[in-house]
Amino acid sequence: MTTALLTHADCLGHVTPDGHPERVARLEHILHALEALELKRVTAPLAADDDLLRIHPESYIRDIRAARPADGFAQIDGDTFLSPGSVDAAYRAAGAAVRAVDLVLGGEASNAFCAIRPPGHHAETETAMGFCLFGNAALAAKHALDHHGLNRVAVVDFDVHHGNGTQDLLWDEARALVITSQQMPLWPGSGRPEETGVHDTVLNIPLAPGSGGAEMRAAYETKAFPRLRAFRPELIIISAGFDAHQDDPLANLNWATDDFVWITAELCRIADEVCDGRIVSTLEGGYDLNALAQATRAHVEELIKAAR
Ligand SMILES: [Zn+2]
Repeated sequence: MTTALLTHADCLGHVTPDGHPERVARLEHILHALEALELKRVTAPLAADDDLLRIHPESYIRDIRAARPADGFAQIDGDTFLSPGSVDAAYRAAGAAVRAVDLVLGGEASNAFCAIRPPGHHAETETAMGFCLFGNAALAAKHALDHHGLNRVAVVDFDVHHGNGTQDLLWDEARALVITSQQMPLWPGSGRPEETGVHDTVLNIPLAPGSGGAEMRAAYETKAFPRLRAFRPELIIISAGFDAHQDDPLANLNWATDDFVWITAELCRIADEVCDGRIVSTLEGGYDLNALAQATRAHVEELIKAAR
């Protein structure tokens, strides 16, 4: 069996203003780093509005489409921008997440990585923020539950920022376990342990600024992995942000590439135990181009090893 790689050239058409960290070069570096790997390469479709309606109201989807500028940029908040190609990119990103779930649950791939932008884990039900327009990971979870009829899906978010959007979109979803680790304090400020969801299916794991791989591994081994094993998800979705890397300019955690290898391998091991290895991973943050490319490649290489 294989690892699927889903992406689309439209994701390079989402342009941000000069100096913006979430830039086209991120995805270019990643795709270059993945070039030599043996992957089932799949062109991401546009998400259908019916897919997006699983997580966002119609008015929100309409507003995002209407905000698309004819040229230049439209600014949604302090750091979230639309260029003429951004809406198509967002529909491809969401479509990649949906298609990846179809491939993995349909047995056409063991696991999958979505090399997409804009990222998704900060997009709340009715609020685009933090470079994110549609909640790609939450959409993957809802699609697996509502379209494929799964009973339990887990989302594990190891981006350095809190997955406030995923938490918001799945806050009252008893069938989804959301585990998110984040540097605290750090933007967006949410993600305290007391935030546990309507059905106690949200687990927030704060990590102290300056902490590194050892602290992260201990937190996952004592908090995240026992919860994940006990929940017995039928699919694990990863919000794969690589901005906890020690070289990342946006935060202050000190993970090495090897720590991303470790967490990926552990998640693959748990997936093997509980759900036939089924993992869908979606790109979130990561803003040092070299660290991002190296860590993403290491992450995907672990997925490939696990798929064999
Ligand atoms: Zn981030």
